[in-house]
Amino acid sequence: MAVPQRRTSKTRKRMRRTHFKISIPGMVACPQCHEMKLAHRICKNCGSYKGRTVVEAE
Ligand SMILES: [Zn+2]
Repeated sequence: MAVPQRRTSKTRKRMRRTHFKISIPGMVACPQCHEMKLAHRICKNCGSYKGRTVVEAE
């Protein structure tokens, strides 16, 4: 079985993990206004869902 030759240092481990969760999961860009919104939910910015306006933007 392959075994690491040396222990991964705290710094190396942390540097690798800086690439984890760079963005909140479930966030997608709105096709209407290109704002970040939660997936499968209406856009908070323009109030649209599936290409039509569901809630009028305030
Ligand atoms: Zn939008």
